[in-house]
Amino acid sequence: MQYVLRGRMIDGLGGAPLEDGLVAFEGNRIVYAGQAGEYEIPADAVVRHVGKGTILPGFIDAHAHLSGEEDAGSFADGKCFGDQLLGGVKQLGLLLGAGFTGIRDMSEAGLYLSRAVERGAIVGPRIVSGGKLLGVTSGHEDIGPYVTKEAYNAASHFSRLCDGPDDCMLAAREQFRAGAKFIKICATGGVSSPTDRVDDVQFAPEELRAIVEEARRHHTYVTAHCTGYEGTYQALLAGVECIEHGVMLTEREIRLMAERDVPLVPTLWISLHVADLPGLPPYAREKARTCAEYSRRTIALARQYGIRIALGTDFSNSRNTSYLKNGREFEAMVEAGMTEMESIRAGTFYAAQVLRIDDLGALKKGYLADIVVTDGNPLEDISCLADAGHIRFVSADGRVVKDLLREERVQ
Ligand SMILES: [Zn+2]
Repeated sequence: MQYVLRGRMIDGLGGAPLEDGLVAFEGNRIVYAGQAGEYEIPADAVVRHVGKGTILPGFIDAHAHLSGEEDAGSFADGKCFGDQLLGGVKQLGLLLGAGFTGIRDMSEAGLYLSRAVERGAIVGPRIVSGGKLLGVTSGHEDIGPYVTKEAYNAASHFSRLCDGPDDCMLAAREQFRAGAKFIKICATGGVSSPTDRVDDVQFAPEELRAIVEEARRHHTYVTAHCTGYEGTYQALLAGVECIEHGVMLTEREIRLMAERDVPLVPTLWISLHVADLPGLPPYAREKARTCAEYSRRTIALARQYGIRIALGTDFSNSRNTSYLKNGREFEAMVEAGMTEMESIRAGTFYAAQVLRIDDLGALKKGYLADIVVTDGNPLEDISCLADAGHIRFVSADGRVVKDLLREERVQ
């Protein structure tokens, strides 16, 4: 039986909106997307009119951390990984309700959660997980000299410290062994880490190459957390194929990204607002202030060079980064100088490209039926994508998981 949505429609590809559009899906595929008048609705179809709302492709967060934190406590509270993992199951429901039907995850939990969703054991967005992040001793993933590297690696479900090409290769192989679909490294320092500067270069060129080559042997790629420009440049030279944050990029890095068609996942909401969040340690607040200004400059350069910008939040459902509000990233992109349409394409089609799923992220015949309806017109007010309260309808892989629209049967 077909499901039919009728009303204003934005295709995710950047095309002009259709005021009287129609999207029909059956099973997990879109069977029609276009002008309503040109489609004959089958007699037994379920039809929903979206009123003042808008039909969009399901949102995709290309940079999330499914750590289960807020729903299961942190290790500091004495909670173990199993508790956090089960907290992650609840988080997937929050993300769906907020319209997010696709996630690129960076954590160990995402490996298990992605398989459970694929098997149908739990309901959630489609998840592409890279497993643990790889970082150097004393780098962005190192919590400091309170524990030994060995103790840290044994306990962490979030990252793996690795040093020297052999250890780096092994660390990448461990992620593939656990089911990772790509590898994420930390190529520079970051805001939240205690012992580095944001512009520290992390990993030597031979270490970067070892990880990139290992990923290519597994027919996949490496993405890099990048704040400072020099570490970003070295990561790009080594063959990294996606840049996360990209806070302080200069024309040199942006030009190289354009030449190699490397996308940027800028995580702007955090970048622009983290300095004002409560409970931040002083060292992080100072680093964050510097980053906000740089981020705006990076976005201007990236737009000038035609870099594909994909939506990513860096949210982990902490107190400040609720999974009901990942859509704030759409707002932050507009705040940083992107148009509403560019931010929508970033959170749908371009993010699907970063997930490397070809038939996702657009309202187009034959594409996967991940579809969202919001209660307003995001081209006039982008805030109608910003939190779960605005989302009226969600279909994930053709399964209707939220439906607050009025039901009408065709006569
Ligand atoms: Zn992150």
